[in-house]
Amino acid sequence: METLALVVPCYNEEKTIPIFYETVEKIKEQIPAQIAYYFVDDGSKDRTLAILRTLTYNNPLGGDVHYISFSRNFGKEAALYAGLQAADGDYIATMDVDLQHPPALLPTMWNFLHEHREYDCVATRRISRTGEPKIRSFFAKLFYQLINDLSDTEIVDGAQDYRLMSRKMADAIVTDSEYNRFSKGIFSWVGFRTKWIPIENVERCAGTSKWSFWKLFRYSIEGILAYTTIPIYISSIIGLIMCGISFLALLFIVIRAMLFGDPVAGWPSLVSIITFLGGLILLCMGVMGLYIAKIYLETKHRQIYIVREER
Ligand code: UDP
Ligand code: MG
Repeated sequence: METLALVVPCYNEEKTIPIFYETVEKIKEQIPAQIAYYFVDDGSKDRTLAILRTLTYNNPLGGDVHYISFSRNFGKEAALYAGLQAADGDYIATMDVDLQHPPALLPTMWNFLHEHREYDCVATRRISRTGEPKIRSFFAKLFYQLINDLSDTEIVDGAQDYRLMSRKMADAIVTDSEYNRFSKGIFSWVGFRTKWIPIENVERCAGTSKWSFWKLFRYSIEGILAYTTIPIYISSIIGLIMCGISFLALLFIVIRAMLFGDPVAGWPSLVSIITFLGGLILLCMGVMGLYIAKIYLETKHRQIYIVREER
């Protein structure tokens, strides 16, 4: 019998884990595979770890449950990575614990991969953003447009981290051990054929989302920095254009001074030009600085996560 490993990152999810577990247990029969759970407790501050221990050690239903518990919160990307590293199985699914990635879809995804052997991955993308603040949807759209215009790696609009993938693809992802992980990019970068299933947005079954607007904003900057260096080209091109313009201006001023003398005037315009250029230089240096910061962090070869307890 084939095996299916479910990788489930959890951060402060004491309310949702039992619901998730029951839901998956109910649909388990529809998948002709042996299912194993790999919960990753991402340094939760509530009873998440206690609940995972109970599920693992004295579970009346007796599922095949494993957990990894981090020494602190390392973020969902790190949790996914740890789960993918730990999970063995012929197929691996990554999913959220809050039922926003409906487990009822798993059998369909499973069947698709078995009927279409040319695909290595089935993933969902949400086509509606109901229940989300308008302003957030607007910025999300803007982000996807921007990153796809700038980067060669395609980031699908609305792509979720709900995926069922083959062992081969999971191995490829695990091999990519960069420190600054942007998984939407990594999944796309490794290639393999992915089938996208459109789904409606589902509200989380209990608890609250861990993403604030500010966190999402930083996450999107991470994504752009990780998958394209075009902002650096743009700054160089602006610099080049500015050089051209100032050279022409210089010629004009010199010739004018030779023809008509040199009355001192126009220092306000001079100040404006200097502050404008100063701002532009700082901006371009800032862009470069962002990339250098990434290089700095990457060269430290820090651990992506630290395990405190696992089974
Ligand atoms: N999560 C995590 N570490 C974090 C934040 C979130 O492991 O630092 C998990 C969380 O427990 C959930 C999934 O990532 O299973 C998605 O998080 P959430 O539902 O808060 O995000 P949203 O669905 O609102 O994007
Ligand atoms: Mg969620």
